[in-house]
Amino acid sequence: MRAPRTLLFFAFDYDMSDETSNKNFTVIPGLNMGMFSPKDLAAILEVINKYDVPATKITGAQRLALLGMEQEDMKAMHKELKPFIRDTVPNGVTYVQACPGKDWCRYGMADSFSLSKKLENLSFAEPFTAKVKIAISACRMCCTEPYLRDVGIFASKSGWTVAFGGNGGGRPRIGDVVAKRLSDDEVVELVKKCLTIYQNEARPTSRTARFMERFGIEDLKKLLLE
Ligand code: SF4
Repeated sequence: MRAPRTLLFFAFDYDMSDETSNKNFTVIPGLNMGMFSPKDLAAILEVINKYDVPATKITGAQRLALLGMEQEDMKAMHKELKPFIRDTVPNGVTYVQACPGKDWCRYGMADSFSLSKKLENLSFAEPFTAKVKIAISACRMCCTEPYLRDVGIFASKSGWTVAFGGNGGGRPRIGDVVAKRLSDDEVVELVKKCLTIYQNEARPTSRTARFMERFGIEDLKKLLLE
């Protein structure tokens, strides 16, 4: 039986790296931190039906995967789904994942979407040589697993806590807490500084988890204070 082809609709790009094997295609629209308005859903469903997409899936990173696609349909679908595709921020982070926050969850203590937008728009002097994922949770239940992301942020009554250097991959690492009781603007400033230090000090292609193992939280804090 022929292997199923895959089209993933994610945040800002489409990947045809596996085009030659004809098995796996990726398109990446950014749908507002995993939120779909009913109108968005109806429009996406129209495209799904038009191209007869055989299966769909919500991914672990809150994105929508359209599975089993024919290669020739991919570019056309990408064009039609353009309104849902976030413009790429030059030298930005890979993605920001956020929980529904105080507007939509009864446990929420902060506005995770508003903070997400600010972080999503961050732009750095150079592109990152490895993925940088950010997760935001609006309470200490940490539904988006912020301790396992490069930058993890969660809210409590006293403000945001920021952790840095987490990873949930094959060699997992819990992020180090860098600061607590922060406002939105303080989080943005701190994240900018942490990621700039990471860019300047990390070995090429090293993820933040490996960088923090080598560099250490105390040295990071010293540099942050300079
Ligand atoms: S982290 Fe808290 S606020 Fe966010 S979805 Fe989970 S329970 Fe709700």
